[in-house]
Amino acid sequence: MIHCTDVVVGGGIAGLYACKLLQDANPDASIILLESQPTLGGNIRDVTYSPGEGLSRVTPLSAQNQLPVVPVGPVRINPSQRLIMELADTLGVQSESAFYRDMRVLNRQRVEAEFESFQGYQELEQNAERFRFMGDFEGTDPSRYMEFWEQDVFSPTNLFPVNGFSEFVCKLAQSFVKRGGKALVNTPATYLSWEQSSNQYLIHTPQKSYKANRCIIAVPPIGLRNIKGPIPTFLNAQKFVREIKPVPVTTITMWFDTAWWTALDFQRIWDHSNPLLHVEFFGTKSKLASKAIRVSYADGSAASLFGKQATLPRCQSDAVHEMVKALKSLLPEVANSIPKPLHTHVESFENAWHFEHPGAEVSLSEKRELAAKPYQLNPSLLGDQLCLVGEAYNPHRTWIEGALDSVLYALNETFLNKVHPTFTPSQTSQAPMFT
Ligand SMILES: Cc1cc2nc3c(=O)[nH]c(=O)nc-3n(C[C@H](O)[C@H](O)[C@H](O)COP(=O)(O)OP(=O)(O)OC[C@H]3O[C@@H](n4cnc5c(N)ncnc54)[C@H](O)[C@@H]3O)c2cc1C
Repeated sequence: MIHCTDVVVGGGIAGLYACKLLQDANPDASIILLESQPTLGGNIRDVTYSPGEGLSRVTPLSAQNQLPVVPVGPVRINPSQRLIMELADTLGVQSESAFYRDMRVLNRQRVEAEFESFQGYQELEQNAERFRFMGDFEGTDPSRYMEFWEQDVFSPTNLFPVNGFSEFVCKLAQSFVKRGGKALVNTPATYLSWEQSSNQYLIHTPQKSYKANRCIIAVPPIGLRNIKGPIPTFLNAQKFVREIKPVPVTTITMWFDTAWWTALDFQRIWDHSNPLLHVEFFGTKSKLASKAIRVSYADGSAASLFGKQATLPRCQSDAVHEMVKALKSLLPEVANSIPKPLHTHVESFENAWHFEHPGAEVSLSEKRELAAKPYQLNPSLLGDQLCLVGEAYNPHRTWIEGALDSVLYALNETFLNKVHPTFTPSQTSQAPMFT
């Protein structure tokens, strides 16, 4: 049995940020971070590719080579997002804006222009398609979608971390370990309970068991389902967790021998006429991408199916063919000069981000509140030094900012010692419309 002050379960950005805030507040804390996967970062996933060296994942431990980093998961920050901007500053993570300017929006009927005259819930239901509702968040509860929408602010300006979001993960992980934290990968939490007699949390992993004064659960609902014991069993049965709906996303990234799209000057193309929802033209002056585009960004129910099919060996050439065909239809002006890609990579996310199942009753803000202080629901089972954090439990869904905000809010609320006095929950940033 290993004793420590804190166990953080889940090594995505939320878990890593929790470790940072806990160490900032108490440099003597003994903190164990448990991550079930072989690398830290969760949905933050970047790769590099060259014809000679093939494809490599960027991980906190991999030696950085000079190849451009290509994000297959999150890619952009909106400058209005204060927590991620502040974290970038603290860690010395550089971002820059894209040099491509235009945005082509197909079958979305001038979403941005009409957003100004948006009237509210009724209009949302009538114009679900136009407001990126039916396609992206299929089967989502409209009232919760509305709540999400109300805090969304459209801003065309985005910043891109030049080494991808992995730089946040690498720097947070390195600093955590340097300050005495223990980050254990390939180590899933399998059981969690609270012992009233010792006022401690008991966490089992396949290798070892831990006892901690505090426990921060930084796993999304999908991950919580795989943990046994009275605490996860109780939480999984609660409405505020059950109502959260994971949104699957599949990204398909293609590398070419020339960046044939530069003259087009597009940052992105949005389309709603088929599962190929979104084309991303990475373009910054330095390291980020250069000869790669993320040619598909499909969500809704098509995403999981497409993701599964595209990874089957016999379907791969078909998938590439489909993607090139789709690109040709989206870019008729260059249709005849789109070459065959050098390499294609398919990445599937079971829970890229989260929305609400139809009929959801607990509001997004109430969910954040309950996740921060679940012990209100059953103090004798949960103890009072427990919280659930991550993008899934925050109104700023779909954004890393939401993951950070949930941590800050929960730690301030749960541990009542204002771990980070610069920001209070009411000062959370406003998110722009598109992730
Ligand atoms: C394609 C895509 C594009 C996106 N674009 C953007 C963008 O441009 N900008 C932006 O801000 N956000 C974007 N996002 C959203 C962003 O990636 C997420 O909001 C953020 O990464 C969520 O972090 P998290 O820590 O809450 O969850 P996660 O990243 O899911 O981390 C949870 C961690 O818990 C681990 N875990 C699960 N179960 C256990 C267990 N039993 N024991 C131990 N560990 C466990 C998981 O392995 C995982 O590492 C995008 C996401 C995707 C997929």
